[in-house]
Amino acid sequence: MSTSTDTSALLDAITVAPEHGRAVPDAASGETIGYVREQTAADLDRAIDRARAAQPGWAGLGHEERARLLHLAADEVDAHAEELALIIAREQGKPLNGPGARFEAGGCAVWIRSAADTVLETEVLFEAEGTRSELHYVPLGVVAAIGPWNWPALIAIWQIAPALRMGNTVVAKPSEYTPLSVLAVVELMNRHLPADVLQVVTGGREVGAAIAAHPGVDKVMFTGSTKTGREIVKGSANNLARLTLELGGNDPGIVLPGSDAKAIAEGLFWGAFINTGQTCAALKRLYVHDSVYEDVVDELSKIAASMQLGPGTSEDSQLGPLSNRQQFDIVTRLVEDARARGARIVTGGEAAPELGAHFYRATIVADIDDGAPLVDEEQFGPVVPVIRYTDVEDAITRANSSEQGLGASVWGDPVEARRVAERIDSGTVWINQHGTLNPMVAFGGVKGSGYGLEFGAHGLKAVAAPKVITI
Ligand code: NAD
Repeated sequence: MSTSTDTSALLDAITVAPEHGRAVPDAASGETIGYVREQTAADLDRAIDRARAAQPGWAGLGHEERARLLHLAADEVDAHAEELALIIAREQGKPLNGPGARFEAGGCAVWIRSAADTVLETEVLFEAEGTRSELHYVPLGVVAAIGPWNWPALIAIWQIAPALRMGNTVVAKPSEYTPLSVLAVVELMNRHLPADVLQVVTGGREVGAAIAAHPGVDKVMFTGSTKTGREIVKGSANNLARLTLELGGNDPGIVLPGSDAKAIAEGLFWGAFINTGQTCAALKRLYVHDSVYEDVVDELSKIAASMQLGPGTSEDSQLGPLSNRQQFDIVTRLVEDARARGARIVTGGEAAPELGAHFYRATIVADIDDGAPLVDEEQFGPVVPVIRYTDVEDAITRANSSEQGLGASVWGDPVEARRVAERIDSGTVWINQHGTLNPMVAFGGVKGSGYGLEFGAHGLKAVAAPKVITI
């Protein structure tokens, strides 16, 4: 195993000649990074057939051997973390530093090891008078992993690692915007895994739809938008595949009266702007009590205005471009609508075309209310609306009024914050932080943000079939 920062060998392994593929652009410059093969439904059928054939052998290796191989895979990812980070920074656009591309590449190895080391014990459900009922967790078969473009490699690993750990084989379908990041991490893992245990099928929505309904798929791990999540549910009527749906979010944050604006501003800012705001569980609408409203707006604006915006590959960049044109257009539309409604654009509110086609300045929008699309819709970009409230009960009602329920946060006195947290309808509520994830702590949404849990023992159960043996 060698370490290197030159991405050419890894790119050569995962790309094809121009005449055989589709160009994948650098998010910042638009230059072509490499060409990927566009695969078809026939390629998918073959991949699933191979995955089905490989599954009994992989399951037969047993937990210890699979864990050992996953550790070797994690070591390989670590040894090539810098190359992987550079590919992510170019393709997806996130900065190398801070909670960016190096963090994502390093996180891949952390989550693989965590899945390898987590053990699901057999549960004894009943034992009396010579009868014993045990609950075992056995592999499901073939797991499909369909992912988004915002944290492409890390989210693929969140789906792949537990599924492999439990003895399933995996067919992954990356977002059409970010195939290279997923192909790269899978290429590294496959240097240590048996053939056909982990495969990637590239392609667009048609390939995704074909996977979701495929008779050879036993489980779909899906991370993406709520709209696509509904399509996956329809597709699964065909194959009755089990589903884990990690869908969109519109996470609220509530800043309580008496909060220290200066002390919480940094946490609020990165809660909203991590990955230039393109994060499922980022803070997307901030409710601030009237008594500290101007102070919070002021502190957030100072941080936003100080941010170094630039290409992901520049060591100085703190925020990067929007990952693609579609997302740039969504952010622009939402900010322009807010402006037209009379909201106050305190800082930002414009593109930075001198840096590239998809750059947008960090934007704080004040004097805006529920009902504005910037508050009600998922902006998924470097802009946060700050909404004034006077009554905590009202803030809770407004926080809960969204059809989404992924994450939320409450800021201020921890005892009061906990009381408020208990009343928020979301999969996770953070107190005096937002968006921190831990491979051992279950993560998932409610309402329009989907269902099922990832990470830790809960994540392993989601990719296993419960099987009862009664003696
Ligand atoms: P998307 O739904 O457009 O695409 C996600 C994936 O689904 C892609 O690979 C795409 O090709 C595939 N796809 C598209 N149509 C399909 C269909 N009919 N059947 C099956 N697959 C299909 O989402 P996106 O724009 O890539 O990602 C952004 C969204 O993902 C945001 O809403 C964000 O909040 C959400 N997200 C959620 C989480 C979470 O953990 N809850 C994490 C990251 C992103």
